[in-house]
Amino acid sequence: MQQIMEYLNKLNPEQREAALHLDGPLLILAGAGSGKTSTMTHRIAYMIREKGISPYNVLAVTFTNKAAKEMRDRVETLVGEGLNMWILTFHAACLRILRMHADRVGYEKNFVVYDPDDQKTVIRNALKERAVEDKKMTPAYILSIISDCKEKEISPEEYERTNGENPKVRLIADIYKSYEQTLKKNNAMDFDDLILRAVQLLSEEEDVRLFFQNKFRYIMVDEYQDTNYLQYRFVKLLAEQHNNLCVVGDDDQCIYQWRGADINNILDFEKDFRGAKVIKLEQNYRSNANILAAAHSVIKNNRGRKEKELWTDKEKGEKLRYYRADDDKEEARFIAAEIDRLCGPARSYSDIAVLYRTNAQSRRFEDAFFGKGIPYRVLGGFRYYDRKEVKDMMSYMRVVQNPSDDLSLERIMNEPKRGVGDKSVEKLKALARVRKESLLAVLSDPEVWEGLSAAAGKNMEELSAVINLLAQERENLKVSDIYDALLVRTGYLSALEKQNTVESESRVENLLEFKSAIYDYEKEKEDAGELGTLSEFLEKISLMAEVDNHEAGENAVVLMTLHSSKGLEFPVVFMPGMEDGLFPSWRSFDKKEGIEEERRLCYVGITRAMERLYLTSSEYRTMYGKGEHTRESLFLREIDKSLIEGDGIWADKGFDRYSGIGDPTPDFSLGEPFRPFAHMKSAAETKAAKPVLSASELAPGDKVSHNKFGQGLIISLEGNTASVAFDSVGIKKLALDIAPLKKV
Ligand code: ATP
Ligand code: MG
Repeated sequence: MQQIMEYLNKLNPEQREAALHLDGPLLILAGAGSGKTSTMTHRIAYMIREKGISPYNVLAVTFTNKAAKEMRDRVETLVGEGLNMWILTFHAACLRILRMHADRVGYEKNFVVYDPDDQKTVIRNALKERAVEDKKMTPAYILSIISDCKEKEISPEEYERTNGENPKVRLIADIYKSYEQTLKKNNAMDFDDLILRAVQLLSEEEDVRLFFQNKFRYIMVDEYQDTNYLQYRFVKLLAEQHNNLCVVGDDDQCIYQWRGADINNILDFEKDFRGAKVIKLEQNYRSNANILAAAHSVIKNNRGRKEKELWTDKEKGEKLRYYRADDDKEEARFIAAEIDRLCGPARSYSDIAVLYRTNAQSRRFEDAFFGKGIPYRVLGGFRYYDRKEVKDMMSYMRVVQNPSDDLSLERIMNEPKRGVGDKSVEKLKALARVRKESLLAVLSDPEVWEGLSAAAGKNMEELSAVINLLAQERENLKVSDIYDALLVRTGYLSALEKQNTVESESRVENLLEFKSAIYDYEKEKEDAGELGTLSEFLEKISLMAEVDNHEAGENAVVLMTLHSSKGLEFPVVFMPGMEDGLFPSWRSFDKKEGIEEERRLCYVGITRAMERLYLTSSEYRTMYGKGEHTRESLFLREIDKSLIEGDGIWADKGFDRYSGIGDPTPDFSLGEPFRPFAHMKSAAETKAAKPVLSASELAPGDKVSHNKFGQGLIISLEGNTASVAFDSVGIKKLALDIAPLKKV
């Protein structure tokens, strides 16, 4: 017994009390790092090892797959593997229940689950059928309303009735209705349906309810502060019979209100579940005292919170470190250099996390880490160079660099759609094999065009013309010019424009980000007094793209958003981009509660750090190809200055304006909303859409300037080709169809 109980002795008295309290409702309300999750896993271990409770009777739910996996691992360390216990996310738990009984709520058991992409397609089709012109009616917007309704169990009719029956409301209600019909017809559920239907099943079908109520005699919910109404009902329905519900959470860490999380679920727990025992944990075991104090100095500015302060018996530790970089590239370089300096015998890469506000921030770090040979892993979201549009553009550039790269050409010949189906592609490849030619050579053959449909033939003619021209001229063009020409002349960019969706906008944002990478490369070469080449650039990027995505547990720095870092901890944490507009995000300024939620997110971020915390910002930031001067984050200014050190600590100015925080009115203009497409198009199109100068506008003897080679003199003109003598590189033959020339 002594030995078995040893693991419980590691808990402090309050934690142990919570772990041993099995019967009746129990709330563990406590701040970050106080051992809530640890207590829960020990509680499960105690049930199974000491109380002989079957794992079959236990349900533990949490929010993210990563958190669920972590909890499963921790329990398995305590009780051994292979328990097959329900330690799951909400969605996964509902899915399992529905797989058994979906027929009871009007679905077939083999129903499919629609992901956000599928959902958008359904909405897009509904918009098309109704010929809706209104640009504000984006699929994402409509889906957010539908999701909101579903979370509150509001039907389309009810939505229409309660929202004033104007044409806009009627349209949305109508689309909502048809969306529901489409899903039903396809035997499909979206993520909201999973919870909604599980709740419906449990509340309407008594025998099913009784079965699961009996099965789950002990129920636990981690991160309870982030539950929404439906998740709350799900838990409540299951717990009704045995009433052995244990929830843990921290009202200061609620970061999903924008998705319907209701902080009152945790605050009202005692009212909801009568006789609930409440246990508070006040000791933080995770962070050094300075870090904890900094977290408190930020979160105390929120008005709507229960006052509580954690203590620690840990040393003060080092002060927080603040660094204000000149620009975001330097910010990433600083972080890479610090990581390099910190890592050694005593500290490994996996001790370090970089937590940012938006996924788009990751590229800078990927570049900088790659440059320094620092292994890294991007959690959630794609690694930048794995994104589809980035890979597509890489393939285009590869074919330009190497026209016999059939594999790359195959990837993009129907991207955007050019009317060549899989069968035609196979035929064309076979033809190339027979003729012993490259696929591009086959596509450049007029006889081949005739064998295709009229549209496809024309498309292949155009595509091969662009690629051949660029391949021929690639030495005479800057990489960025090639890139622009590809974007515009292959129709890739305008295909995205036509889609006009949230995803297509974000694709364009990524393409802009890719262009920033090209500019970076060109700038580097320029600084070294050299000319960049396409082949060198491609080599550089391929090397980066091929770095394996590191497996969990591997020795690599972790990159992720602040949202996905909830519940995790790292010895060293970097929080970059501490700037107004980025963090707090400008999106949060619309709503009064917006800033408070961002502040909780900041609290979550700070409290991930165990030993060292770095905060950085950059004076000038280029995001999505657009540069702006920035101001240091409101949250940065809230941190007690005695806890933080570093150069360029923010000046006092601007401090007063924010006193009495809670509802600050930011006094800086955010300018026009950023339109990535328009931005990219104007930049690329003016340069690449048409020849810059035609032969008729030039004559031998004209002085010209070239984007890549600088000043030169026209020697002769022949058809569409000009021979130009450049001061820097001597005589070059240039195709006027594409040459970036200006007369001087
Ligand atoms: P969060 O609010 O971030 O989810 P949490 O309250 O769930 O945090 P845990 O992740 O369970 O906190 O624990 C934080 C750290 O403190 C872990 O490293 C854990 O091992 C350690 N810890 C918890 N309880 C104790 C204890 N009694 N003695 C020593 N270390 C502890
Ligand atoms: Mg936790």
